[in-house]
Amino acid sequence: MPNSKKNKTEDDNAFKAIMASTSIKEFIDAMNLYGCQRCTLSQHNNRIVICRGRLTADIMMIGEAPGKIEDQQGLPFVGPAGMLGDRMFASIGINTNHDMYITNVCLCRPVAPRGSGKQNYTPLMEQRALCLPYQIKQISLLDPKLIILAGLTAARAFLGTKMVQTMKQAAGKLFLPENGPLAGRHTFVLYHPAFLIHAKKKGEEIYKQIRQDTWKHLQILRDKIEELDIEVSGTRHICSVCNEGFISRRPYFVEGRPVCASCGKRSHVINEYL
Ligand code: SF4
Ligand SMILES: [Zn+2]
Repeated sequence: MPNSKKNKTEDDNAFKAIMASTSIKEFIDAMNLYGCQRCTLSQHNNRIVICRGRLTADIMMIGEAPGKIEDQQGLPFVGPAGMLGDRMFASIGINTNHDMYITNVCLCRPVAPRGSGKQNYTPLMEQRALCLPYQIKQISLLDPKLIILAGLTAARAFLGTKMVQTMKQAAGKLFLPENGPLAGRHTFVLYHPAFLIHAKKKGEEIYKQIRQDTWKHLQILRDKIEELDIEVSGTRHICSVCNEGFISRRPYFVEGRPVCASCGKRSHVINEYL
């Protein structure tokens, strides 16, 4: 959506109009209509990337910020990390477009300066603080049963640095904060899929460990989804050993690989959404 230049009063009025939304649909429409220039991220992005998924989903995922591909397409989590995230969630029966509502801590792409050797940078504290009311608004309008915070930026933005000192300590953990923007909300912290992609560069052993940890975390997440009685789409698997197709809402993993429901072998599977 365009983000045409506004003066301060226009910007304040736009913010008030967006924040007066009474449904997620209204929020998205207002955001598209008014745009936002509250922080400096509005200077280099193509568009505001609001959300993707189902507007009535029980699971909400919040990541860090859109990247280049997200900024081009106007949808969060659609680049390489997003595609890996889709496969990770598919392995526990979640179709991200149907079972989730996905957004980010910052809705605009933090474009890294030319010559920095990076495409994006981690949003600054001031940028995060200025965008946070939009995320709090989306949470209150969606009222999800479970919130997934993907990566350190999202985990710290919503749980604070006391609860989230490092991702190693927080990833795979469930929280039910007493205070703050997520007070009383079931919250789960997960490694950001981009972290898994970058972990490949850290050497085979480290990468293997992070992958195995992530599969364990996904199983904890799956258990919580069941406990909270959240319906998910389920996933169709095709076993690479016996070639049988099987539908599972609860595949089991051994050392990071799912066990085929037909032949009982650990196999590489192809996940397909139902
Ligand atoms: S990142 Fe958020 S606060 Fe900053 S301009 Fe974009 S929508 Fe507005
Ligand atoms: Zn099999």
